[in-house]
Amino acid sequence: MTNQMKALAKTKPEPGLWMIHAPVPEIGPDDVLIKINKTGICGTDIHIWNWDAWAERTVPVPLITGHEFAGEIVEIGRNVEGLEIGQRCSGEGHLIGKKSRQSRAGKFHLDPATRGIGVNEQGAFAQYLKLPAFNVVPLPDAIDDEIGAILDPLGNAVHTALSFDLVGEDVLITGAGPIGIMAAAVARHVGARHVVITDINQDRLDLAARVADVVPVNVARQDLKEVETGLRMKEGFDVGLEMSGNQQALDQMVENLVMGGRIALLGIPPGKSPVDWSRIVFKAITIKGVYGREIFETWYKMIAMLENGLDVRGVITHRFKVDDFVQGFDAMRGGSSGKVVLDWT
Ligand code: NAD
Ligand code: ZN
Repeated sequence: MTNQMKALAKTKPEPGLWMIHAPVPEIGPDDVLIKINKTGICGTDIHIWNWDAWAERTVPVPLITGHEFAGEIVEIGRNVEGLEIGQRCSGEGHLIGKKSRQSRAGKFHLDPATRGIGVNEQGAFAQYLKLPAFNVVPLPDAIDDEIGAILDPLGNAVHTALSFDLVGEDVLITGAGPIGIMAAAVARHVGARHVVITDINQDRLDLAARVADVVPVNVARQDLKEVETGLRMKEGFDVGLEMSGNQQALDQMVENLVMGGRIALLGIPPGKSPVDWSRIVFKAITIKGVYGREIFETWYKMIAMLENGLDVRGVITHRFKVDDFVQGFDAMRGGSSGKVVLDWT
């Protein structure tokens, strides 16, 4: 191994990402070194590329970006047990602290001191990634590297979708981005009755219909109430998964939910947005905010479901060699793609 590697980094505080040569990270006693095979481009990476206000506030420069990855272990720290060189893996990109009440209670995903690879710490858009062995998730043979590279967003979808019991329920998903589409596939997999997914982007609704057995609804052109009538639904949706970050989508969800319905909120609104709380109170709605994945329960469940027939491969619409990363980011920035996967091999 040479001690230089290719990496995609934010090297100046302005829009864009640049391919650089960087030293291969040196691992500590509790870390492993992962040779990266495939990475996924996330909406977060687009914020970082665009250098919006959030990115400017959050991301140190220079920084190697990226947090969705699959690869194999090539070096192991001296304290690490239970992992071997050559082990294929993905991993949790949130580096948790061990001091908070939540962390000490084993609720690692609720640790307030969490730092993200590719956001606060050196990331996975590189030939090699240093990761605490704790964060490694070994991949079974049934999960190849390109699926391994999208387990992070699939984990968001699984975490949100499994927030409430969906068996026999009618589910409304607002936002047919990659995560909404994967959540729709999960909702079907676990036994929801009707899964309706909304968007205003027809390309994405068409993709949703190709990936999962769902009812796509273009809310710019179609009336959601009419769709419900067509499905012989009488009292509204039982569960809502908000995956657009759009205020109108949330309003529409509340409007179309059953009395006592439940909403899991994953979508991140761009800033403060008005909410009609009295409707939520009078409908006795339960709302849960969802952040990241449950470490490691979501990983366990999603791998089990993938081994048991959950199929989300269709959500990957673009594959590029990493040298063509600009095309990959263009596809994502176009707003109609599903997942875009970059090949580092
Ligand atoms: P995305 O931006 O690709 O998809 C959002 C979709 O919502 C788009 O297709 C857009 O056209 C659609 N939309 C816009 N207005 C709408 C409306 N009125 N009704 C229905 N749909 C509408 O996002 P993604 O990558 O799939 O992620 C989904 C959301 O989850 C984003 O808001 C993202 O920021 C957020 N997110 C949150 C976490 C977390 O930990 N909470 C993690 C990852 C992503
Ligand atoms: Zn991501």
